[in-house]
Amino acid sequence: MRLLHGRPLAEKVNARSRERITALAARGVTARLVVVSVGIDPAASTYQERLMRSGKSLGIDVQVAAFPRGTSESEVVERIVALGADQSVNGILLLTPLPLPLSESRLVDEIPPEKDVEGVHPYNVGLVRAGRPRFVPSTADGIVELLKFHEVPLRGARAVVIGRSPVVGRPTATLLTNEDATVTVAHSQTPDIPSITRAAAIVVVAVGRAGFLTGEMLTPGVTVIDAGINVTPAGLVGDVDVDSVSAVAAALSPVPGGLGAVTTALLLRNVVRAAEEQNPPGPSA
Ligand code: NAP
Repeated sequence: MRLLHGRPLAEKVNARSRERITALAARGVTARLVVVSVGIDPAASTYQERLMRSGKSLGIDVQVAAFPRGTSESEVVERIVALGADQSVNGILLLTPLPLPLSESRLVDEIPPEKDVEGVHPYNVGLVRAGRPRFVPSTADGIVELLKFHEVPLRGARAVVIGRSPVVGRPTATLLTNEDATVTVAHSQTPDIPSITRAAAIVVVAVGRAGFLTGEMLTPGVTVIDAGINVTPAGLVGDVDVDSVSAVAAALSPVPGGLGAVTTALLLRNVVRAAEEQNPPGPSA
């Protein structure tokens, strides 16, 4: 079985971002991302740490606006509105899942679309659906970019996406459709998921449960993208039962080592794009 490593693609994306960051720096612009987090979710914290590390190595200023669990919605809204108005901030990323009773959609609506580097504001969601993406959720973008990088055929392929969240499942299904795959979305209310996944050439799993996808749910030769991030006592694992899936699949993105690095690189690329768009070169440039 072929492992679909993410590192080579992430390095390629980062190399191009570095060039653009250098060009911005020559004009006195430092790209800046602010990560808004409420409470502590282990998977989200892993992502936040990775963003800070990678941002530092690229020359992007990544700051964190951290609120303790129990912070009121109006307090978080107030900060997002202030960040939206702050001209030194190019991108705003709201980390999810949020603790109850905070409403993700209420907070996301306050991010100005031009700073919505994770592509979750309804305006950017609509552009993806219309087939003219601007900012795309980075995990979904990463899933499709990883498949293309490893030359997995998408046109006409039968694909199944398990999970329908706004940041992973839904946009992945849309992007795969835009690439001419024939896509089925499965979720917690879908009966008999194995009967659907067994007919697929590509299976993307984004459920958030270790060991969810097993080999007996798949047809031989399938390509599997594991988007899960689960923090277990044994370390970081995805949603795939690696032993049984390895015996059946032709290709699998490993966790760690697959999508994670790509997601980070693409999110930071969006920050660079936002900084460029918000700081167009002057007439003499
Ligand atoms: P989420 O919002 O909790 O969504 C999970 C999805 O899985 C939901 O659509 C849910 O269905 C579905 N589901 C739950 N149990 C199921 C079951 N038994 N059978 C079928 N479907 C089921 O999670 P998310 O934000 O999409 O994240 C999913 C995973 O990806 C998590 O492990 C997360 O940490 C990871 N993630 C990875 C990255 C990355 O860069 N690799 C980025 C973000 C998230 P319903 O809609 O019916 O509830």
